[in-house]
Amino acid sequence: MKTFQCRCKGQPTLFFESNLCTACNCTVGLDDDFSEVEAYYLDEASGHYLKNAGADIHYQKCDNNAQYNACNGMVNLTTFVAAADKTEVLCFACRFNETIPDLTVVEHIPLWKKMEAAKRRALYTLNALPVPLKNITQDPEQGLSFDFTTDRNVKDHFISKLNHQDTVFTGHDCGHITINLAEADDVARSSTKHAMGERYRTLLGHFRHELGHYYFDQLIACSPKKQALCKQYFGDDELDYQEALDKHYKEGAPSNWHEHYISEYATMHPYEDWAETWAHYMHIIDTLETAQNFSIAGSTSGIQADNEEVGELYLPQDKHYFSVQTPISRILDTWVDFSVILNSLNRSMGLEDAYPFVLTQSVRTKLSFVHHAIHNKLDQLPELTAADLK
Ligand SMILES: [Zn+2]
Ligand SMILES: [Zn+2]
Ligand SMILES: [Zn+2]
Repeated sequence: MKTFQCRCKGQPTLFFESNLCTACNCTVGLDDDFSEVEAYYLDEASGHYLKNAGADIHYQKCDNNAQYNACNGMVNLTTFVAAADKTEVLCFACRFNETIPDLTVVEHIPLWKKMEAAKRRALYTLNALPVPLKNITQDPEQGLSFDFTTDRNVKDHFISKLNHQDTVFTGHDCGHITINLAEADDVARSSTKHAMGERYRTLLGHFRHELGHYYFDQLIACSPKKQALCKQYFGDDELDYQEALDKHYKEGAPSNWHEHYISEYATMHPYEDWAETWAHYMHIIDTLETAQNFSIAGSTSGIQADNEEVGELYLPQDKHYFSVQTPISRILDTWVDFSVILNSLNRSMGLEDAYPFVLTQSVRTKLSFVHHAIHNKLDQLPELTAADLK
């Protein structure tokens, strides 16, 4: 993720989540094209926001922004009034919401804000990639939507069940992604994390995992040829899911799981392996973009090979990680070096490793498949060899 700058004196840094410039006090937001966080000025005459005095394009804050501060979205009124003869009240990210939590329960509001922040970050990375990204209003058949709801009581950290409420499962079903609001509660989430023996469980991780299932349908399952190729990398996705699930919860992951899978959960079924691998690809490119943005300095063995400046983490400055021109092997080599720095920084702060995972050759091969699928270059994948899946 990049940082951004305000236009005021000294050009102070703005973050992806910023809704105010603390230096000049002006409103800060994210436009409908979802690429720049920037300053907006209130035009007293119209009551709308403008990027520059006298600009033609008028904006208003997304309803969820204006009422709850739940996002920093700005709605481009000019586009929507012209296109649909009605005023759109929600921003790009909020238009993906099908169900939001029951806001009459005030304790839900801060948790919902965390959901929205994680969702926006996940969408930002997707928006920079050449993959379809449409909500269900734009594409009722294939579009994407989110349900944020819960079957548990927020007052006891989601332990007790709410009466008259269907069970809520975090998951994906034909473009509908459901995330249980309990995952936004730190106590509830870390208790599940410990109960499942996981080393990493985050809201952003949930979004990226479930989006992985959605994009399996969008990019792979739609083509028999791609699906057949995918089976060579991830295994047979038509295996009985319920049987695999029961087996996983009864027997756990095989003891040598880390040789071939990014996580224990990925061993459960080829679908889950794909979704876990997809999520890691997203984590990697988002985090590398962040590192590149800050020109992070550091030094680990072997990374100065192409760089005279000892002490600089070698990040390819010419291309960014969203581009197909950046080879996946280079992205992953840089990532492995960078993750050492990332984990070491965390240890210095007495925190757990930020990236407690190992990228074996097998996992790298699967990440390469995801990279080529995203960039629609599966025909350029090198021939698989036994060494690739070692
Ligand atoms: Zn400012
Ligand atoms: Zn919004
Ligand atoms: Zn899954």
